[in-house]
Amino acid sequence: MSYDIGHWIQGSATRAQDARFQPLYNPATGAVQGRVALATRTDLDAAVASASSAQRVWGETPPLARARVLFKFLQLMQERKDQLAELIVREHGKTLPDALGEVARGIENIEFATAMPQLLKGEYTEQVARGLDAWSLRQPLGVVAGITPFNFPAMVPLWMFPLAIGCGNAFILKPSERDPSASLLLAQWLQDAGLPDGVFSVLQGDKDLVDAILAHPGIAAVSFVGSTPVAQHIYQVGTAHGKRVQALGGAKNHLVVMPDAELDGVVDALLGAAYGSAGERCMAISVAVAVGEVGDRLIERLAPKVAALRVGEGHGAGVEMGPLITQAAQQRVERLIAEGVADGARAVVDGRGCRVPGFEGGFFVGPTLLDGVSAAMSCYQEEIFGPVLAVVRVPDLAAAVALIEANPYANGVALFTRDGQVAREFVHRIPVGMVGVNVPLPVPMAFNSFGGWKRSLFGDHHAYGPEGVRFYTRHKAVMQRWPEAAGSKGPEFAFTQNL
Ligand code: NAD
Repeated sequence: MSYDIGHWIQGSATRAQDARFQPLYNPATGAVQGRVALATRTDLDAAVASASSAQRVWGETPPLARARVLFKFLQLMQERKDQLAELIVREHGKTLPDALGEVARGIENIEFATAMPQLLKGEYTEQVARGLDAWSLRQPLGVVAGITPFNFPAMVPLWMFPLAIGCGNAFILKPSERDPSASLLLAQWLQDAGLPDGVFSVLQGDKDLVDAILAHPGIAAVSFVGSTPVAQHIYQVGTAHGKRVQALGGAKNHLVVMPDAELDGVVDALLGAAYGSAGERCMAISVAVAVGEVGDRLIERLAPKVAALRVGEGHGAGVEMGPLITQAAQQRVERLIAEGVADGARAVVDGRGCRVPGFEGGFFVGPTLLDGVSAAMSCYQEEIFGPVLAVVRVPDLAAAVALIEANPYANGVALFTRDGQVAREFVHRIPVGMVGVNVPLPVPMAFNSFGGWKRSLFGDHHAYGPEGVRFYTRHKAVMQRWPEAAGSKGPEFAFTQNL
């Protein structure tokens, strides 16, 4: 059954006037399952007007009252999470357990945001000079927007809006046009939780809408998560229009295997981190850096397990990997595997031409293991965003670190070793935003912030957690004196030195 996906403005689902539409595919079958409306500038103006008048009231609502809406929303999310995960499987293609995991990690951000009355507390100093008190506070920005990628249609929006609205802003979400429906379910549930109309809006759209958001004078800040070229564009154009911008980009995450590492643990870690969600995670491990003589042993243990991974439709029993998001993604990943092989890498397991019985039209690529990859190859240089693990062999840890340092991305990295001193030195020196020691996917919890370095993040603030609260609020410093009736001591023309 084909369905239309529209927007959510002023508390109700709307279909755009004169909208352009884009087909929505089921990645597991390759069939068109619906179409998504692409918002126009008129739709954006309507959403901003609604958000702006709602924010004037919402921003004055006491933080505890705002938190109570989030508590209710949290409860609804917990009760209804299966429905959301089901929708994610249908539009994104990931497996049901993976979709449930995404929703669970997203819910943690609502839990964090319910602490908003505590998080928004300022600092107070009595008597900074005689009769003078000073304090700081944080105020909302106004209307803020979030632009999100396809790979986590629920979790990444949840990195943003619970904090943004908890801080007293109104939030406009522009989800990925490839799996847009989760956004509308979230909007409905926020309304069910008692959120006033206009505080949360959804606009479906593509580059045209994003560019209109970046230029819109009624939007104070933009949070973006997606690929690096687009993140850089968002940062440059958004800040040129005077907006506060945090733009999280792509990644190429390395997992360094030291010769003393516990190899069974390494193999399991690599299987989950490289092939989970078909490699469509910004924290996916796409490069295993084998140090010294560990390379042959690693390949020997890893290869049969990679070859045995079960690929299929997301609901299938025991399925470990679903399809990629589009046919273009499938073709791109297969091209990068082919280029790797042409450049001299050895395809120990080759996932090209993967066909799933009953789902022959799906955008599947099988798990792929490339050995003998070098830094000059395109399969190393590009973010593949598919189920491909490249093994790079290096003689020692210094060479592993040099490889990682030279990479323009710096989202996540992991080191597997039994040597505490080596691990401590690695954590200290490595120029990467999120580091795991014997942990393959060091994704911070909701109360620690998330973000990479270098070309994996543009802007000053990392996402969610305490950094998210800072991003969605402005700092204000206040000094206050209540002079006694005796009146003024007269004007002072220099900074006072006598406290
Ligand atoms: P994408 O950059 O293609 O799209 C992200 C968003 O930007 C979407 O909403 C899309 O509609 C919009 N967009 C796309 N092209 C645009 C353009 N030219 N101008 C303006 N807007 C545009 O990313 P994607 O394919 O949806 O997601 C995968 C990418 O996201 C990967 O690179 C992945 O590493 C990255 N990602 C990063 C993080 C992180 O935290 N750093 C998290 C998840 C995903």
